[in-house]
Amino acid sequence: MRHALAAFVGVLLFFAVVTRVAEAAGLRRCGCAPDCWCRRPGLNLFRWVIPVGHSPVDPDEKAARAAV
Ligand SMILES: [Zn+2]
Repeated sequence: MRHALAAFVGVLLFFAVVTRVAEAAGLRRCGCAPDCWCRRPGLNLFRWVIPVGHSPVDPDEKAARAAV
């Protein structure tokens, strides 16, 4: 059981790093508000692997941001 947990954490960390690198490369973009938890240093690594609790911005603001 302990082994399964370690494997799960390993996969979680793997995806956290991969998605974080993809975001840094501009392949993915967070649609969250600036005050969302995932914007905090250290937590942003898990932005993509923990898709709950985010505070998304409204569609209008998102469109305005994409137009820049
Ligand atoms: Zn967020």
